[in-house]
Amino acid sequence: MENTAKSGRVLLVGAGPGAADLLTLRAVRALEQADVVVHDGLVGADVMALVPPAARLVSVAKRRDRHTMQQEAIGDLLVAEALAGNIVVRLKGGDPFIFGRGGEEVSACYAAGVSVEVIPGISSAMGGAAAALMPLTHRDHASIVSFVAGECRGLADQNWVGLAGKGRTLVIYMGVTGAYAIAEKLIADGLAPDTPIAILERATLPGMRVLRSLLADLGGLVARQAVISPALIIVGDVATLGDDAAISNLTKALPCPVS
Ligand code: SAH
Repeated sequence: MENTAKSGRVLLVGAGPGAADLLTLRAVRALEQADVVVHDGLVGADVMALVPPAARLVSVAKRRDRHTMQQEAIGDLLVAEALAGNIVVRLKGGDPFIFGRGGEEVSACYAAGVSVEVIPGISSAMGGAAAALMPLTHRDHASIVSFVAGECRGLADQNWVGLAGKGRTLVIYMGVTGAYAIAEKLIADGLAPDTPIAILERATLPGMRVLRSLLADLGGLVARQAVISPALIIVGDVATLGDDAAISNLTKALPCPVS
């Protein structure tokens, strides 16, 4: 698309699951050029430390109860900054196109004739699985992996039938708050209550936890262990794999990002 706006443009950059050294080289180069960095709450302090001091920071952190900035307003902001001639880096946790609403932001740029590029990031499922040494498609256990959004709102409308069970791995993003309802839904769909599950909390970040149990106990586990966001729920036999000692080198304490 022809760039009608001076030299301004938007770069949607995946910031990865947390650890700064999981950024791509392309993401780091984008940050180096940024005039404005528009970031959300999932982007942690050590990634933010790579933002050049001259760049202007705008936080559009969302919280479950209170959307600091509506999605449409974020699109408007990106467009306005680019039309003013700025190189705008929109820094998003994980990958911009995995539950990141990157699609809406690309559309907003297109609609305004603003040049936009997407730089992929390591999604938290990949980062978390690697850190926990839990292969999501271990050949002996699963040949299918599905990513779903487990937000409480709209859960009943989602059809997850067939996504979990023997030979399949289900990764649930944004599922901690709705953990009881998620277990109920999966069991009602016919999944065995003793299906293994794991929770990857603060994946790749210091203080990361891997918690394991069975599906029927998912809600109980979240409550007993006071699991906080960000966390992923893994459902399927691969949830029994991994080495919890592998995460013990992530010891430096950092403030917890908010999703
Ligand atoms: N685009 C992001 C996902 C955004 S949705 C990605 O590709 O990872 C937000 C959800 O992502 C959180 O509720 C949580 O389920 C998951 N998440 C993000 N970062 C995480 C982390 N470091 N550890 C565990 N889960 C994480």
